[in-house]
Amino acid sequence: MPHDHPHHDNHLDPMDARVRALETILTRKGLVDPAAIDVIVETYAHKVGPRNGAAVVARAWTDPAFADWLARDATAAVGSMGFTGRQGEHVQAVFNTPQTHNVVVCTLCSCYPWTLLGLPPVWYKSPAYRSRVVIEPRAVLAEFGLDLPPECQVRVWDSTAELRYLVVPLRPAGTEGWSAERLATLVTRDSMVGTGIAQAPQ
Ligand code: FE
Repeated sequence: MPHDHPHHDNHLDPMDARVRALETILTRKGLVDPAAIDVIVETYAHKVGPRNGAAVVARAWTDPAFADWLARDATAAVGSMGFTGRQGEHVQAVFNTPQTHNVVVCTLCSCYPWTLLGLPPVWYKSPAYRSRVVIEPRAVLAEFGLDLPPECQVRVWDSTAELRYLVVPLRPAGTEGWSAERLATLVTRDSMVGTGIAQAPQ
């Protein structure tokens, strides 16, 4: 499947230089407005972030009908909460269970559900993560501090430009009766990529 963005490597200096050169050429030719690019970067770097995804997860934990919709058609379910747009056109939610832990990667580049999680962290784009997590997911997860019980299977999902994944982590014990707003504070970015789990209540 094709990948729709040009940075097919991690953010090495030569790639940054190429991106800047490309932006300069496109700007000089009048094809792009650098101010518009700045708005897009600013939006995904600061305004859209993992809080969107956390709100989705917390709602799924507290609203079984929504969880069912999220499982069947995540694009529509998250769209109903206003989370649509670039790099979020088609989303699939994968639900952790006590028997199965899900983790997301983009082995080709860095496809990521921007509308739900903001911009991807540096490690998500690193060649080491992209290559190793499919070969030895348990070892990679252990390096993130996540030691799964041996009976828990790990499923690795490879993102593409057409399909981005959101992991729905297990709801932490001891949160019975919590509101969705309060639960959302326990949902970390890494728990929605699968390199972590939701925080336990204090
Ligand atoms: Fe990609």
